[in-house]
Amino acid sequence: MEQNKNNLKVGLRIDVDTLRGTIKGVPTLCSILKRNNIKATFYFSVGPDNMGRNLWRLLKPTFLIKMLRSNASNLYGWDIIFKGTFWPGPIIGKNKKAIAAIKLAYEDGHEIGLHAWDHHGWQANIEKWKPERIYRELQKAYSMLKKITGSTPSCSAAPGWRSTDETLLQKDKFNFKHNSDCRGEGIFVPTVNDEKLKTPQIPQYFPTYDELIGTNGINDENYNEHIIELITKSKSNSVFTIHAEVEGIVCSKMFDKFLNKTEKQNISFLPLKDILPTNIIETNKIILKEIPGREGTIACKSG
Ligand SMILES: [Zn+2]
Repeated sequence: MEQNKNNLKVGLRIDVDTLRGTIKGVPTLCSILKRNNIKATFYFSVGPDNMGRNLWRLLKPTFLIKMLRSNASNLYGWDIIFKGTFWPGPIIGKNKKAIAAIKLAYEDGHEIGLHAWDHHGWQANIEKWKPERIYRELQKAYSMLKKITGSTPSCSAAPGWRSTDETLLQKDKFNFKHNSDCRGEGIFVPTVNDEKLKTPQIPQYFPTYDELIGTNGINDENYNEHIIELITKSKSNSVFTIHAEVEGIVCSKMFDKFLNKTEKQNISFLPLKDILPTNIIETNKIILKEIPGREGTIACKSG
């Protein structure tokens, strides 16, 4: 049968941006993944949840269109949209239910990565922050995750693919086995000022739900088929990203169906550490670019 020819291996990255996503989305995703016998990489944000500020900062026409297109209040919930807007955001890593959810992902055997201390702060300010500030933010999240799981996070992924040469340099001071800070296809070793860094980059390749939905006739009925088609056309070892706030809450049934379909098509999902080759030959740089469906500039693999 044609569908069994695929044998594609795809890295499954799960971004957890908010308190709601951690408490509600992570346990749901853990049970879906367990039922489908899949291990993934979870990237946790553990500092203040100020994600509501994203809405107000980004009140620009393109963002408003995106909010209407994706029905954001339904997608994220009003509590996320307003979080940190009128009152200081709660510290995710100090919330008992959030701690339990992070431990659950760890104990289920998923790879645990660092996403952010303050997701919103990083996304909004990364180009302005001094090297010391970037290091401090990473260090705070690193320590908090270590305290929660009893183990150091083995990798990291920049919030919203917002990264610069300076963030790559600061991250290289941690002993991460791999980082996923940019968009593009193909794993590479990044260079900054012609110097090779030690931590490889595993770029995110496929578009995310909020980037696609409502564009080119893509809706909840045909979204799974669309992603499967993109995966079957891709090379092996590409990365697919989901969000605890989306696939773990409002789209969890759709995601469960997606995994049933991909299994029949011989597509397997793995934690990012398991798609990392032992010998990475390619070196490349990251550059800042605009991409469809996303606000502002984001880091992309050059060339
Ligand atoms: Zn994120």
